[in-house]
Amino acid sequence: MDLSFSPEHLAFREEVRTFIASAMPPHLKEKAAADSHFEHDEVMEWHKILHQKGWVAPHWPTEVGGAPLDVTSRFILTEELELAGAPGLSPFGLVMVGPLLIQFGTPEQKKRFLPKILSGEEVWCQGYSEPNAGSDLASLKTRAEDDGKGNFIVTGQKTWTTYAQYADWIFCLVRTDGSAKKQAGISFLLIDLKTPGVTVKPFLTSGGTPAFSETFFEGAVVPKENLVGPLNGGWTLAKALLGHERTLIAAVGASTRAIRKVKRIAARTQKDGQPLLDDPLFRAKIARLEIKLRGLQMANYRAIAGAQLGRAPGPEASILKIRGSEIQQQAYELAMEAMGLASLTWFNEPGVVHPEEQWVPSLFNYLRATTIYGGTNEIQKNIIAKLILGLPER
Ligand SMILES: Cc1cc2nc3c(=O)[nH]c(=O)nc-3n(C[C@H](O)[C@H](O)[C@H](O)COP(=O)(O)OP(=O)(O)OC[C@H]3O[C@@H](n4cnc5c(N)ncnc54)[C@H](O)[C@@H]3O)c2cc1C
Repeated sequence: MDLSFSPEHLAFREEVRTFIASAMPPHLKEKAAADSHFEHDEVMEWHKILHQKGWVAPHWPTEVGGAPLDVTSRFILTEELELAGAPGLSPFGLVMVGPLLIQFGTPEQKKRFLPKILSGEEVWCQGYSEPNAGSDLASLKTRAEDDGKGNFIVTGQKTWTTYAQYADWIFCLVRTDGSAKKQAGISFLLIDLKTPGVTVKPFLTSGGTPAFSETFFEGAVVPKENLVGPLNGGWTLAKALLGHERTLIAAVGASTRAIRKVKRIAARTQKDGQPLLDDPLFRAKIARLEIKLRGLQMANYRAIAGAQLGRAPGPEASILKIRGSEIQQQAYELAMEAMGLASLTWFNEPGVVHPEEQWVPSLFNYLRATTIYGGTNEIQKNIIAKLILGLPER
């Protein structure tokens, strides 16, 4: 297998770099340079810029608005956007429900929803988790009952709904048959968050940001035309969507950027009268992490080469998820170590430390979540044990 890039792909990488440098407004560039937090409006501003360029959904087929890019070019585009620290677009429409509608939606659903996901006119969120249904997602209890008049009546609660407070629509897993085996009684439903009986209650994280919400459904009336795929066939859709979600989390570009930052911080930090970057122990830690990252990058390239041969991402997405999430955390652990005392705060006020160190503690804390969301790493290990290593269930 040849994993090197062709001259055309190298030229495309240059094109992406030039585009980002010229198209990103100065206020976003300033935030990108410091890896600071982008507000929802800023994320949507960048979404619209990428949409105009035709690069907002490169992984979608061209007939529904995707970009005419091959798999490698799509990977290059993602990597360059991460390397530049560009605002990460909300994945719920573009990476999750959009591809699912393309695969399983009716022609009417595709026509109704896809263009507004692309343009950013409608923002989505994900209603999978419930207070007692996280890893054991199939035990979810939110009910959708047929009212005999062409609607479902939805009752229940979702939790950890990221950015529901900004969203217009939520895609939900709901129980439509309480008597069937757990997985066999679930359906996939699209719900307008403005529907009477739907309440979104944001809650603050320990970092002080309102990143999540609890979402309550109290007899919300949802038209049956919003059912995606077959009634009681939602589990197949749920799993397909999680596969898309996990491939996102490899984040090779983001980790490359983080390690470069660690090196810059260590070059500025003095230890025993020398830059920390010259300390052999610290250098060895960076080298170990870079080797792991290079291994992940190669595994990612292999997945891309597999995709070019028409193989859908299978359980190897779990390997990318585990390694990618661990490396992101370890890069920020090293950044914290290099910052020393200045890292012992949730957030550094501007002027206290170098601008690119201001957000390190906050990101370090946030990145604890990467080994939890998208299915915890323990669950990914179970998937690898069963589907790749063929080990028996306990
Ligand atoms: C930042 C963040 C954003 C999120 N955003 C969303 C969102 O937008 N929409 C949404 O629907 N959900 C979202 N989630 C929820 C996320 O998907 C769940 O947190 C995750 O699936 C784990 O479920 P849980 O929290 O209920 O933990 P539990 O399932 O209670 O697990 C607790 C611990 O036990 C371990 N464990 C459980 N079962 C097993 C097993 N069989 N074998 C080995 N170990 C096991 C787990 O790995 C974990 O360490 C988000 C979570 C976070 C942290």
